[in-house]
Amino acid sequence: MKYGIFSDIHGNLEALEAVLAAMESHGVERRVCLGDVVGYGPNPNECVDLVRQNADITILGNHDSVALGWEASENFNFYARRAIEWTRDNLTAESKEFLKSLRYMECENDLCFVHASPHSPADWYYITDLEDAADSFSFFKERICFIGHTHFPVIVVRESEQAFRICDTYSYTPQPGERLLVNDGSVGQPRDRNPMASFALCDSETGAIEIHRVPYSVETTQEKMRALDFADFLITRLAEGR
Ligand code: ZN
Repeated sequence: MKYGIFSDIHGNLEALEAVLAAMESHGVERRVCLGDVVGYGPNPNECVDLVRQNADITILGNHDSVALGWEASENFNFYARRAIEWTRDNLTAESKEFLKSLRYMECENDLCFVHASPHSPADWYYITDLEDAADSFSFFKERICFIGHTHFPVIVVRESEQAFRICDTYSYTPQPGERLLVNDGSVGQPRDRNPMASFALCDSETGAIEIHRVPYSVETTQEKMRALDFADFLITRLAEGR
């Protein structure tokens, strides 16, 4: 089964449309959204609609949770908080209903899907180095776990109980016995200095992973944000991928 895994859309409709089209052209059979559909961007309801129509599985993200009022925005920085408050005020009842239906973690076909970390998914831990990544392998039993949350695409390989490494490429096929932790990057707000939208492909039989980047009209999204009087920092970062 060919999976397309994407996350951290953050209300960026143009980036989401580009990723959905790219997955279509790659012959993706099953689409999984790892959450953070809203927050930061100008089109939260449109993104929720597209995800609801296109994703076979959708996982809850921390921004989705805050937008629902399930937890406070006190851990967010100034810009994130302002954006999530705007999002909360502008989400339709229908969008909220969909976000409320989402789960923290789902697994199938030896693949595990979670927004932040398989260790206590509702605590939204950030996996930012090899040590955190290595620890996380004890919290899922499947061959591959997909995460988002940091907006940095990366493939981590568990070669054995003691040996872990970060892949220096964005495609990898696991050897027998190896397990992977894969961050799919961000659709709507990449932070690895590459402004193109990110998503992952996975063949569930071989475990082969490919992380892809697709261009989209950043200017269109930026114009919408300017018209809504969003913070300059949030507008400029999209073009810089940070
Ligand atoms: Zn995010």
